[in-house]
Amino acid sequence: MTITGKVVAVTGASSGIGAATARHLASLGAPVVLGARRADRLDGLAAEITAGGGRAAAVRVDVTDPGDLRALVDTAVDRFGRLDVLVGNAGVSRIGPMADLDVEGWSAMVDVNVKGILHGIAAALPVFRRQGRGHLVTVVSTSGLKIVPTQAVYAGTKNAVRTLLEGLRQESTDGVLRTTSISPGYVRTELVDHAVDDPVAREQAKRTMAELGIDPDAVARAVAFAIDQPEDVEIGDLTIRPARQG
Ligand code: NDP
Repeated sequence: MTITGKVVAVTGASSGIGAATARHLASLGAPVVLGARRADRLDGLAAEITAGGGRAAAVRVDVTDPGDLRALVDTAVDRFGRLDVLVGNAGVSRIGPMADLDVEGWSAMVDVNVKGILHGIAAALPVFRRQGRGHLVTVVSTSGLKIVPTQAVYAGTKNAVRTLLEGLRQESTDGVLRTTSISPGYVRTELVDHAVDDPVAREQAKRTMAELGIDPDAVARAVAFAIDQPEDVEIGDLTIRPARQG
């Protein structure tokens, strides 16, 4: 079974990388289940995919709530008969030196970026085991590979996810589960819009992203590549960054 017909749930599908991924996978024949908090955006994307001949369902999901992830997985099974892939993409970023003590921002990153993935694992793993097959794809970051000032907590959350996935992989060598960590570099999305409060610093970050960032479709193609492999092949890690990124 290649990508066509695989049922894929995507968290954070209301914008950026998640929306591009859902669009791309649907264009390749995968039924997609879209999850995020902005339901209006999800409904719009689901309608667009359906109008283009694809199959899509939308569920309002806050990944900090384990029950919402269960609802996402249940929707895949109810609407399309199974869940083949969960793309854990929802994420938030807060940029700033740790000395700023942005405790609220730290908590948000841990809650969404780390616990959100754990909630997805808890919801999807029983279904994958029941089916005898499943694939967990997470969107981490090059921030975790090259630690720079102002991104320590964000990088920490992304590396926590990398660690969780590697542990899960080691525990899942019976061939039922495949795991993939996708590490994007700068990608032109809304992520940076919410990353800094100071308007001057925010404009600077947005300019950098606009000048250097690559299109979210580049990451979508990488996700598709990881999914579109024979059952005995696991793409463990993929890094996709602008050719000009340092
Ligand atoms: P966006 O801000 O465009 O997308 C983030 C997505 O996460 C949105 O769909 C948002 O939906 C969703 N989200 C945030 N909080 C929650 C929540 N509590 N529950 C459910 N969904 C939530 O940015 P990107 O597309 O760039 O981000 C996608 C992923 O890519 C993130 O994990 C990010 O860390 C990662 N990444 C991005 C890079 C970049 O340069 N852009 C680089 C490396 C990694 P909603 O608000 O509707 O809930």
